[in-house]
Amino acid sequence: MAEINSQGYGEEPSGNRQPDRPDAPRVRFAPSPTGPLHIGGVRTALYNYLFARRYRGTFILRIEDTDRQRYVPGTEEYIVESLRWCGIDIDEGVPAGGPYAPYRQSERSGIYQSYAMKLLDSGHAYLAFDSPEELDGLRREKEQQGEVFQYDHTVRNSLKNSLSLPSGEVDKLISENVPRVVRFKMPAGREVAVDDIIRGDVRVDASTLDDKVLLKADGMPTYHLANVADDYLMKITHVIRGEEWLPSLPLHVLLYEALGWSEAMPRFAHLPLLLKPGGQGKLSKRDGDKLGFPVFPLEWKDPSTGEISPGYRESGYFPEAFLNLLALLGWNPGTDKEIFSLEELIREFSLERVHHSGARFDPEKARWFNHQYLVATDDPTLAAELKKIVVEKGYEAEGRKLERICSLVKERASFVSEIWEQASFFFERPGKYDEKLVKKAWKQSTPGLLEKIAGIIAAIEPFTAESLSLEIKSCLEKEEIGMGSAMIPLRLALVGEGRGPDLFTIMELLGRQETVDRIRIAIEKT
Ligand code: GLU
Repeated sequence: MAEINSQGYGEEPSGNRQPDRPDAPRVRFAPSPTGPLHIGGVRTALYNYLFARRYRGTFILRIEDTDRQRYVPGTEEYIVESLRWCGIDIDEGVPAGGPYAPYRQSERSGIYQSYAMKLLDSGHAYLAFDSPEELDGLRREKEQQGEVFQYDHTVRNSLKNSLSLPSGEVDKLISENVPRVVRFKMPAGREVAVDDIIRGDVRVDASTLDDKVLLKADGMPTYHLANVADDYLMKITHVIRGEEWLPSLPLHVLLYEALGWSEAMPRFAHLPLLLKPGGQGKLSKRDGDKLGFPVFPLEWKDPSTGEISPGYRESGYFPEAFLNLLALLGWNPGTDKEIFSLEELIREFSLERVHHSGARFDPEKARWFNHQYLVATDDPTLAAELKKIVVEKGYEAEGRKLERICSLVKERASFVSEIWEQASFFFERPGKYDEKLVKKAWKQSTPGLLEKIAGIIAAIEPFTAESLSLEIKSCLEKEEIGMGSAMIPLRLALVGEGRGPDLFTIMELLGRQETVDRIRIAIEKT
C-alpha cells in the first residue's frame, strides 16, 4: 500500500498526472497583476507547482485583478511568460481555461456580490456608509492621540452602518444611493486557531482584528472575499502562499465558517520571506539595483516611466538554474545536495521541509548555481549560444572552434556572456597590452626571443598545441632561457594580458598566421 504522508496524500511515483483522481490536490498561484512578478512570487508558484506535481495534482493560475486602481497593463502576460520560461506548466486557469472558468477575478464580480449578500443576510456582514473623508478624519484624530484607528467591534456601533443606524435610515441611504461598502462583522471574544503546515499552530484573538471591507463601493470585492470564494469554488485543497498573507488567515478562516464552507476549508502553508542579502528585511528591487542582481525573472519595462529592470532570463541565467536556486531559498532536502533537476525537485519536495524563518538571498550563490549549470552544459549547446554573441560582434567562427573555446574557458565563466569575455581575444587582436606586466616581463632581449619563436611557429608541422609546446620548450631549453621570460611576453602578444587558458592551445586555435602576426605586432608596438 502507498505510504500516506502528513499531507494525507499517498506517495506517487512521478509519471503521468491523474488530475481527476478524487483525492489529488488542487493548488493555485494567485498573483495580482499590479507589477512584474518578483522572484519571491516565482518561488511561491514553484512550490505550488512542485507540490501539485509530486502528488499528481493540478496547478492553477488565477489572476486576482479586482484592484483596478493598482492594475498595471502587461503584467498578466508577464506572469504567464515568466512561468513559461521557467518551465512551470499551468494545468488550469489563465490562459489555459478549465472547468471553473473564468479564472480572472475581474470577470467574476457577480459571484462575489452574491456571497456578500449572503453574508449580509446571515448577519456576518453589514453595510457601512462612512465616507472616505469621515474615515480619514477619524484616522487623523487617533493619530494625534498617538493611536491607530481601527474599524472594529469597539467603535462600529458609533459609526455610520447598518448595525448602528435604525433600519428606516439604512433603507433611506440605500434608496438615495449613498456609497456603501460591505464589512465583515469580526466576532469579538473568538480565538481562531489554524494548523499551518509550515508554521504549526497559529492562534489569533479575533477581538484584535478589524471589520475588513469585503465588497467595495464600486461593487468589486476586496482580495479577502474574492480569494476565499474562489478557493472554495475552484476546490482548492492547499493554499501555499507568502508569509505576508498570514495576518489575513483568521479572517479567511472565519469567512469559510460564515459561508458554511468549513468542511471544504483548504490546508494552509505560509512560506517564509525572501530576505535581503544582508539578512535584514524583505528583498526589494532596490537591493537588486544597488548590488547589481535582478529581482524579476524577465526584463521588465515599466509602462508609465519607461524604466527597464533587468531579468534573470536576459542576464543569462538558465531557467533550470533559476528554478534550482529558488527551490533552495526556503526549502532544504535534508542533505548537502544542492543541484536538483526539476524531476528531482518534484520527487523530493515537501512542505514539511520548508523553513519557518526568512531565506536570505545571496547573489553570489545565484551566480554559483548558474556556473554549475553552465559547466554541466555540453559544448555544442554552449557554442550555439556563444555563436550568437560572436555574430553580433561581427565575427565569424565555425562550430568546432567555438566548441573548443567553450570547453577551454567555461570553468571560468558563470554565463555565456562571460565565456565571450574570457574568449574575446580569440576574435579581437589585443588593442593594448597590460602595462604593469609589460614593465615587469618585457626585457631588452624579448623582441629577439619572440622573433625566434615566431620563426618556429611559422614552420612547425603539424600545427597543434602539442607540437608547439614540445618545439618551443625544447628551443628554450637549448638556449637556456627560463620559461617565464618567454611565456609572459608571448601571452601579452596573443592575449594582451596575463590571463587565459593554455598558451599553446590558444596558438592552435588562433592559427599559424594570426599567431605570428600578433607576435610581430607586439614586437613593433612595445
Ligand atoms: N493576490 C494575492 C497576491 O497577490 C494572493 C495571495 C494568496 O495566494 O492568497 O499575492
